[in-house]
Amino acid sequence: MAENLNLFTSTQAIIQKALQKLGYDEGMYELLKEPLRMLEVRIPIKMDNGQVRVFTGYRAQHNDAVGPTKGGVRFHPNVSEEEVKALSMWMTLKAGIVDLPYGGGKGGVICDPRQMSMGELERLSRGYVRATSQIVGPTKDIPAPDVFTNAQIMAWMMDEYSRMDEFNSPGFITGKPIVLGGSVGRDKATAQGVTIVIEEAAKRRNIAIKDARIVIQGFGNAGSFLAKFMSDLGAKVVGISDAYGALYDPEGLDIDYLLDRRDSFGTVTTLFENTISNKELLELECDILVPAAIENQITAENAHKIQASIVVEAANGPTTSEATKILNDRGILLVPDVLASAGGVTVSYFEWVQNNQGYYWTEEEVNERLLKKMVDAFDNVYNVATSRNIDMRLAAYMVGVRKTAEASRFRGWV
Ligand code: GLU
Repeated sequence: MAENLNLFTSTQAIIQKALQKLGYDEGMYELLKEPLRMLEVRIPIKMDNGQVRVFTGYRAQHNDAVGPTKGGVRFHPNVSEEEVKALSMWMTLKAGIVDLPYGGGKGGVICDPRQMSMGELERLSRGYVRATSQIVGPTKDIPAPDVFTNAQIMAWMMDEYSRMDEFNSPGFITGKPIVLGGSVGRDKATAQGVTIVIEEAAKRRNIAIKDARIVIQGFGNAGSFLAKFMSDLGAKVVGISDAYGALYDPEGLDIDYLLDRRDSFGTVTTLFENTISNKELLELECDILVPAAIENQITAENAHKIQASIVVEAANGPTTSEATKILNDRGILLVPDVLASAGGVTVSYFEWVQNNQGYYWTEEEVNERLLKKMVDAFDNVYNVATSRNIDMRLAAYMVGVRKTAEASRFRGWV
């Protein structure tokens, strides 16, 4: 039988298992197997050549029993209804794992920002906010950056919402530029969270970060900052990649140089001749492998060729269910996406709290609070996994879904 590469149905299957393990009946699964709300919009945009193009966008709100929904907006050609739904469910899990007062939400627009001008991107960002304005808002559903969206796009979206609302609403969206109420440390937060989780995982496996060999797939927001943090900690980043290929040096790559040459979409390998493929990159000899790019990268086909002893998922959904089983059976410690990449939404929460209070924290305060959230989350998930003798992914789903299930029950929804 062919392997299930559908993120939505594989997420549903693990949520069902997690709820069973927590002792909930089918009724709870019926509630949580789909988002409560899913809006599809069509956004007409005047392109620079004078023609109108109509873009399709989505916003999914998985469950708001705990609090407002929260999650990024993705601008990518592969965005689909099912992907946005699955991603909104993962946001519920992430918020539960790091214990934030949110449910999960997610948005996306089918488009290719690499082919669009700044003006077209601005009109699309504003159009998305106008089209979804009825269901989003600082106490309803709070968007943020995701794949190919950034602080500038958040600024346009915040401005559009504020104009419609007729007052300044910084808490409508997170990941903003600092001068518009963004939090210090938000841009690096996902990578910082991954770094903390790598340090915790390495301790459990008695691996010293200094001189450990790390391979990172993806050189976008998460992957590039992570490469920098790891090399600053004395690790050897021996492999990195982007959508077009990968670079390998067993002695360690010069990360500062690569960061300097990378473009705003994370492309850098096109400048080099001696590249290897993304497939080869994943199978390199190393201690820690971090998929930080796209989904379904470690599958039943290559899971038995992975040479790392720790795999930390900085991307959403990089390892299939079958591959998860193979890695676990081989004794590889797999730290799942919903835990490893929760640093971004954690600092987004800090940003929203600062906006609501109108009082801004220092970088030290942000870092200290992020460290505590991530270490507690790792401990919690690791302890559930070891005490119940289950893999870290199932343990993370159990920890992540529990709060939403309990809140839904208290509200009398099931
Ligand atoms: N898009 C990020 C994620 O998938 C961040 C979401 C947020 O900050 O709300 O976790």
